[in-house]
Amino acid sequence: MNAFAIEEGEAITLIDTGSSNAWHPTMGFLPQALGEAKIAVDRIRTVAFTHTHLDHIHGLILPDGGDGFPQLARLLVPRAELDMFRSVARLSRFHDRAQPLDSGQRLSASIEAIAAPGHEIGHTCFRVTSRGETLLIWGDTVHVPSLQFDRPEVAWEFDADQEQARASRLRILGLAADNGHFVAGAHLDSPGVGRVHRTETAFRFEPV
Ligand SMILES: [Zn+2]
Repeated sequence: MNAFAIEEGEAITLIDTGSSNAWHPTMGFLPQALGEAKIAVDRIRTVAFTHTHLDHIHGLILPDGGDGFPQLARLLVPRAELDMFRSVARLSRFHDRAQPLDSGQRLSASIEAIAAPGHEIGHTCFRVTSRGETLLIWGDTVHVPSLQFDRPEVAWEFDADQEQARASRLRILGLAADNGHFVAGAHLDSPGVGRVHRTETAFRFEPV
């Protein structure tokens, strides 16, 4: 499970938060990863979710019950999934703080939300531009990298709408490949960032 921190001056925007202690014991190492990256959690002022599945949202709360991000000022949840988010009891203290996130919305001068529904009804990617380069933080656009670059038509049971997920995956893969964008994925193997290239029949991933 990868989460991505975007640094813009002092402010840091975090896209997704991992699962904290809400799922498998092999997950939930975001605080340690931020420490390794020398990112103080106090600098994280905005958290935005690609979607509200449990492996992306529970990092708002630490395993000891404390807030993961004490200086959090803005919490953005894809509008179509606000009700889903507000039904998660463990995160009740955040229910009222969650603000709707819409496609096309700018989180800052360099970050823009792009709808890519299917995996979940509000699944959202984030386009980050900096110094002439672009990164697509694409959430769960590809879940199984060993399979879905080569066979992007393959969907799976965790997709809320498999037809829509397939269409979004093909669109976002094409966008990245045809424009030379970097991509960053929650379920891409370490380091979780790379470029996408077209092959004769599909796509391949080139990690950084
Ligand atoms: Zn996921």
